Amino acid sequence: MFSHFSLHRLLIKSLREQGLRQPTPVQIEAIPLILDGMDLQVTAETGSGKTVAYLAPALHQLLTTAHPSGGTRLLVVLPTRELAQQVFKTCQQLTRHTRLSAGLIYGGEAIDPQYALLADEPAIVIATTGRLLEHIETNSIDLATLEILVLDEADRMLDMGFSDDVLKIVEVSSPKRQTLLFSATMNNAWLGAMANKVLREPEVLEVSGGRTSHSAITEQVMLADNEAHKQKQLLWLLSFEPYRKAIVFTNSRVNAERLGSLLQQKKYRVVALHGDVLPERRKRVMERLDAAEAKILVATDVAARGLDIDGVDLVINFDMPRRGDDYVHRIGRTGRGGEKGVAITLVQPDEWNLKASVERYLKHTFEPRLIEVLQGQFKGPKKLRASGKTVGNKKKKEKGNRDSKTRKKAKQRKRLKQSIGKRRAPGKAPRNESST
Ligand code: AMP
Repeated sequence: MFSHFSLHRLLIKSLREQGLRQPTPVQIEAIPLILDGMDLQVTAETGSGKTVAYLAPALHQLLTTAHPSGGTRLLVVLPTRELAQQVFKTCQQLTRHTRLSAGLIYGGEAIDPQYALLADEPAIVIATTGRLLEHIETNSIDLATLEILVLDEADRMLDMGFSDDVLKIVEVSSPKRQTLLFSATMNNAWLGAMANKVLREPEVLEVSGGRTSHSAITEQVMLADNEAHKQKQLLWLLSFEPYRKAIVFTNSRVNAERLGSLLQQKKYRVVALHGDVLPERRKRVMERLDAAEAKILVATDVAARGLDIDGVDLVINFDMPRRGDDYVHRIGRTGRGGEKGVAITLVQPDEWNLKASVERYLKHTFEPRLIEVLQGQFKGPKKLRASGKTVGNKKKKEKGNRDSKTRKKAKQRKRLKQSIGKRRAPGKAPRNESST
């Protein structure tokens, strides 16, 4: 029970109102350490309840300690706008009975209203890296008396190239601060270096690493012959698989657009998100999903990073994700807050090795899934290496390629000779010669 932690009663009240009574494992482990003032490095699955794990104790500190000077007291830094919005929402829910004020700062929106917001010196600031740096550079935010700094989805921030930005933010933050670093995975060399630089004698928690099997999610794989076969499987799943909301992941914007249009034609309530979708439209897409006006989201990895959409119980990887981390983030859109979810990955022959790599990375294999009425030719490679990858004789293949190239060139030469021969009928001089 949350009431077992010595959290401020107004926080317990808000938690209760949101129906949160039983803390999740990451909350059980992290909350007491944060209340003790420890620096933390936490690896926790997406959807594990990590936002409440850091916000509840951090807000408790703010409510129970005096802060005579102005300036930001709690700063949460995140990689994307959507994540910042979600954390802001959770923060507003938690602080609703308190006098604590929070400000949300992210790029892609006019900066002037943010100057006004920061001039009011909210105790809590939730921000994305780039825009926060702009505010630091224009001195519109004061982090000199910062008490708690949270770097959330730190692996994503580093992946997205924000390493220097994060360090600049840390540099201007009070050296007396408590720092909490959260990430879905820790297998990132930069992340280790970053942790060394920004944390002081941290407690390291690996509550349930993103690489282990996610108990709330059933992970399945469905073999497909080609893209057209995958489209049939997708339509079947969206028609017959029980789900409240589904996310279909693709590896490219083009595919996201194409599938979005296909599903729209088939009268599914679908919205699409990818890197080219403008902020206003993204907002509308999120509102439609939240209001359940749309049941299906087709998205690319970048667009879907950190999204917390209520009620997603089905994730379909139309394209096999290229990296294990992306797979973990994708399937983490379901099975959130202890709910059950299903993740189905469609794999065509040229994606088999990628699937094997992701399984090796995760240290578990996916459950095979078959749609009887849509059985294809591809049943997996005939021979497999110990790694689970296809046995392919590279040299042979290369040699084969070389042979076919040589044959092609010989044919071209032959055709050229024949055509020259045709143009120069025996006894006739070449055209250019006759014209002189
Ligand atoms: P997060 O890992 O912070 O992205 O949280 C994922 C989801 O878990 C959110 O929708 C939260 O509302 C939900 N959640 C957080 N804490 C709990 C809890 N103790 N019990 C049930 N759901 C929770």
